[in-house]
Amino acid sequence: MSGLSIMCQPSTANADTTDIYIFDPGSLSSVQCMGDACAICHAKWPRPRTPLGELPDGTRVYGCRECADIIASHMARSAEHALAAH
Ligand SMILES: [Zn+2]
Repeated sequence: MSGLSIMCQPSTANADTTDIYIFDPGSLSSVQCMGDACAICHAKWPRPRTPLGELPDGTRVYGCRECADIIASHMARSAEHALAAH
């Protein structure tokens, strides 16, 4: 294969992240890292537009709304100040 060879570079990030979900670049495909596919379900259409979190290097990772809700609930559950669900 020629052309794009975008690699998600693993990097040691500062561990002071608070409420941003950090994705493991090794578990994402290049299209997911570029935001062309949902980082959770790999859906490319409709184009994922909801920021789900970031890679360790600060690159935004996007996903579809349903998956964003999954992340949100996951984060809420693990957060100390969990917001009360309705
Ligand atoms: Zn999705």
